[in-house]
Amino acid sequence: MLVSAKEMLEKAKAGKYAVGQFNINNLEWTKAVLATAQELNSPVILGVSEGAGKYMTGFKTVAGMVNGMMEEMKITVPVALHLDHGTYEGCLKCVEAGFSSIMFDGSHYPIEENIEKTRELVKICADRGMSLEAEVGSIGGEEDGVIGAGECADPNECKMIADLGVTMLAAGIGNIHGKYPENWKGLSFETLAAVQEKTGEMPLVLHGGTGIPEDMIKKAISLGVAKINVNTECQLSFAAATREYIEAGKDLQGKGFDPRKLLAPGTEAIKATVKEKMELFGSVNKA
Ligand SMILES: [Zn+2]
Repeated sequence: MLVSAKEMLEKAKAGKYAVGQFNINNLEWTKAVLATAQELNSPVILGVSEGAGKYMTGFKTVAGMVNGMMEEMKITVPVALHLDHGTYEGCLKCVEAGFSSIMFDGSHYPIEENIEKTRELVKICADRGMSLEAEVGSIGGEEDGVIGAGECADPNECKMIADLGVTMLAAGIGNIHGKYPENWKGLSFETLAAVQEKTGEMPLVLHGGTGIPEDMIKKAISLGVAKINVNTECQLSFAAATREYIEAGKDLQGKGFDPRKLLAPGTEAIKATVKEKMELFGSVNKA
């Protein structure tokens, strides 16, 4: 059964580790992430962007697939199904579809409007035992066609949003979605520390986990980050393994064209990436 992310993040925060959010795109992705979480006895958050939800024909399909897989695969570790960077309308759709967690990305609204919409969603989530992530200060890079520069959040605005009763807070600290540019300045630990000081025990979320050096990840966890989002890295490892299979001409040998064979190396590559991240974040055996 899907659970809210609240308890797993509170435990992570207290235990000084982070739970990974791995974004899913299709059946192979979902199977790979769930199998790895179970194997490593780790809690996990399955992230679904609005684009990925649309690709999979809608949020109901996603919830149906995840629930079915958890039963068939006998998954016993805590799993949250979470909308990533949701619009207000997308959040409502996921509530209806049976997600256990949502992120409302109101970072592009003026702070007053972000507060107003977040307040409404806090109420809806509380009634259903769902967790809610809010965002302050936009995270750089491209996300579903929107390009942000990677600003740092205002700690006072973070406190205003945290006080509404959200479960977890994503604050921009110079992090970027996708690959990091050569001249990237690194994470702003000053901002992170200031945000945590203002927000007390609020679990913080680090987006754009791909390509942040390991020591920065560990420092971020020590300063209060309890959830780290991983998306691009799984895509890159899936693509590299699939390319290798095709370039080696394996799809032309025997029944190598069978999608179950063609997609197997990529699926294994996702598993390896998820395992590496869970070990780095410290969530292994924390289920
Ligand atoms: Zn993000």
